[in-house]
Amino acid sequence: MPLSERALIERIRRRASSRKFSAITRGIGDDCAVLDPPPGHELLVTTDFCLENVHFRREWHPAKAVGHRCLVRGLSDIAAMGGDPLAAFLSLALPAEIPQKWVDGFFDGLLALAERWKVPLAGGDIAQSPQGVMADIMVLGSVPRGKAILRSGGKPGDVLYVTGTLGLSVAALQAFRAGKKPTAKSTPRHFFPDPRIDIGRLLRERKLATAMIDLSDGLSTDLSHICDESGVGAVVYATSVPYVGGENGLEFALNGGEDYELLFTANPRARVPKEIDGVPVTAIGEIVQRRGMWLEDKRGKVAKLRPRGWEHFRGEKK
Ligand SMILES: [Mg+2]
Repeated sequence: MPLSERALIERIRRRASSRKFSAITRGIGDDCAVLDPPPGHELLVTTDFCLENVHFRREWHPAKAVGHRCLVRGLSDIAAMGGDPLAAFLSLALPAEIPQKWVDGFFDGLLALAERWKVPLAGGDIAQSPQGVMADIMVLGSVPRGKAILRSGGKPGDVLYVTGTLGLSVAALQAFRAGKKPTAKSTPRHFFPDPRIDIGRLLRERKLATAMIDLSDGLSTDLSHICDESGVGAVVYATSVPYVGGENGLEFALNGGEDYELLFTANPRARVPKEIDGVPVTAIGEIVQRRGMWLEDKRGKVAKLRPRGWEHFRGEKK
């Protein structure tokens, strides 16, 4: 590492000052961070890996985007529970040859997103990696006691909704793989996705969602998690799924990953807005009693829908 571990921690500490964030009594600089969660709330905890050549490639992804995407994975999980993020923790292993400029760029991206959502980087660890950058992000959040939106609340008859437009992120990834430049539309959603924290909170506050998950692995795979946990099945209407053009559009929307949108179920009588904070909310299907997942095309023909998300796309990588 270009800077010593100690110098690097000092540099991060200066940038990640947590004083202005009320939930943190003590941030970086002690053996543990000290947190003061809001009264009457439960804690949410999530951890995610961000590994070089698995989740990103240094030749495709600018350092800033890697830092942003690292934190977004955790924030999106908190959003999927209807929670508010409290603090982030980062364990980061860096190969010896990495330029300090890359490390600074990584923290530029991560801390800009942290600042935007008022989530302090409150601790972590730094080590030298034998090979490649390895980051493990942990995000703590809070939700009023008993109010977290779980994957297990979906009921037969519920309507299935999704936020935003799907498949943009994986479209950018596939362009990189083909040695092409991704489109101007797909790049921002791939490099700098917005976590849907405000939408998750609104759905919880208005008691609209019965079950929810964030789309990190791809619609087909993430929907299968809701179905498994809720003990139900689902029908998705192909013509309702929001995606942008291209012959692979629907395939990308169903089986691509890293959309970081929210997928949720709601009672058919619930008044779900068509748009929240400028982000479209689209009904794409329904929950059924019979276990399994089906895709209904525009002619009403129904085919089995299999969970072929992230794993499927990763399998194509040479
Ligand atoms: Mg998740």
